[in-house]
Amino acid sequence: MNTRNRQYWESKLSGLTIEGRAYIDGSFVPATSGKTYQCTNPATGRVLGSIAECDVSDVNLAVIAARRAFNSGSWSRISPTARKKVLLKLADLLEANLEELALLESVDMGKPVAVAFEYEMPDLVEYVRWFAEAIDKLYDEVAPTEAGNLALIRREAVGVVAAVVPWNFPLDMAIWKCIPALAAGNSIVLKPAEQSPLTAIKLAELTAQAGIPSGVFNVVTGFGESVGQPLGLHMDVDCLAFTGSTEVGKLFLGYAAQSNMKLVWLECGGKSPNIVFADTEDLDAAAEQAARVFYNQGQICSSPTRLLVEASIKDDFLKRVVEHSKAYAPGNPLDPDVRMGSMADARHTENVMRFIETGMKEARLVTGGRRTTIGDSNNFIEPTIFDNVEQGHVVGREEIFGPVLSVFTFETEEEAIAMANDSIYGLMASVFTSNLGRAHRMSDALRAGTVVVNAVDLISPLVPFGGFKQSGNGRDNSLHAFEKYTALKTTWIKY
Ligand code: NAD
Repeated sequence: MNTRNRQYWESKLSGLTIEGRAYIDGSFVPATSGKTYQCTNPATGRVLGSIAECDVSDVNLAVIAARRAFNSGSWSRISPTARKKVLLKLADLLEANLEELALLESVDMGKPVAVAFEYEMPDLVEYVRWFAEAIDKLYDEVAPTEAGNLALIRREAVGVVAAVVPWNFPLDMAIWKCIPALAAGNSIVLKPAEQSPLTAIKLAELTAQAGIPSGVFNVVTGFGESVGQPLGLHMDVDCLAFTGSTEVGKLFLGYAAQSNMKLVWLECGGKSPNIVFADTEDLDAAAEQAARVFYNQGQICSSPTRLLVEASIKDDFLKRVVEHSKAYAPGNPLDPDVRMGSMADARHTENVMRFIETGMKEARLVTGGRRTTIGDSNNFIEPTIFDNVEQGHVVGREEIFGPVLSVFTFETEEEAIAMANDSIYGLMASVFTSNLGRAHRMSDALRAGTVVVNAVDLISPLVPFGGFKQSGNGRDNSLHAFEKYTALKTTWIKY
């Protein structure tokens, strides 16, 4: 029996003190304006606490602290092995706080607490350990120059890195950006999404406990236009790492152009194809994977939201997907058996419902389609599947970022490739087939940062993650993540 039942999580929540202040230069501080906004649990409508509503003055203070810390060398110039030890301690502290982190993540943005506790938070601990362990194993280069010359090619930290992240995986996205950047010796200013600041604030507390010096890690809470934009426009931020919508990602390119040409790394939207061929060995396993589009309430950039099925198996396969979608019936996120929680907030729920209404006019609704009420909140949406979707349909093209699957039919491999690539996005693609040659042909032809064969949405710290086209640039995860947060320096020595 699972002892972590709903009552357990509810009583843990009632015992929690919610910290809502920003974290600047080693201290928790209110916004300089004194302003706050309320942070609400989308699954209950209850207020969790007041959050500092920071603005440009707080951004300036955080960037000044980050620059001062960087220049002091308290973190940037200690040995990689010394940084590794601190980051390994941070991983241990995250592990010791798994329950609280999972609970904060759940109540902040609606995801099932059991999913956060059993999978997402433990994976993050390993993520931090992986980057901590990597940093003192990276060697630089010596160029093969002619005699009498030594040309050293080294990577050094870029300086002050700002990270602006979304609400769908608040702690994951914060850690994906901040840990490689910290490991490389940079100072950080993190701006969590206004909907989900709680785990970022908790992370600040743990970085201090782990021994990261004051000013090296800062968290500035607040809204996109009052905190994200000043970070993007700041003349003393060297690098801006962003995860969020394509629309806002483009704004950051503009902010850099208007200010200091800072490096801008973007992980943006997606509309990932999942292509199922009739030669798939285990259709039921493939259908179970296809239904994973509803994981995290469908709020995943790399979700396989476009299902392309070979015509000869379409009806059978679709029935199986509908069957597997039942595992994602919405429920109270603190109930440990629930696999589908609430949407991140009421406004986003309304946006997704508007897409569903459009879909009902364009295509055939197979299952779901309704907004539902659970307890005191109506921010829940049933897993929704549309069939007979065509390339021109809104629900077939636009990123919905909710529990909505659009199903297309194809006859040939060439047609599947053309349909899959006909998108402004290129984050991830999946292919189900038992034909090895076809798997490779598809992997070559699909314009996506990641192609997964016989599974969906595989992500690991060991491999790069990021997009082609308007899904973004640069790569999170793996040793390639360090490329974003370091600059190449050449030193010539004549002798
Ligand atoms: P969003 O773009 O609205 O917000 C992301 C962040 O940008 C937030 O912190 C927000 O406050 C800030 N922001 C908003 N407007 C801003 C502005 N004018 N100037 C500066 N900053 C601003 O995205 P969201 O709704 O929080 O998240 C959903 C989006 O994120 C989806 O498009 C999804 O695909 C994308 N996403 C992408 C990845 C990826 O790795 N590719 C991962 C997760 C989410």
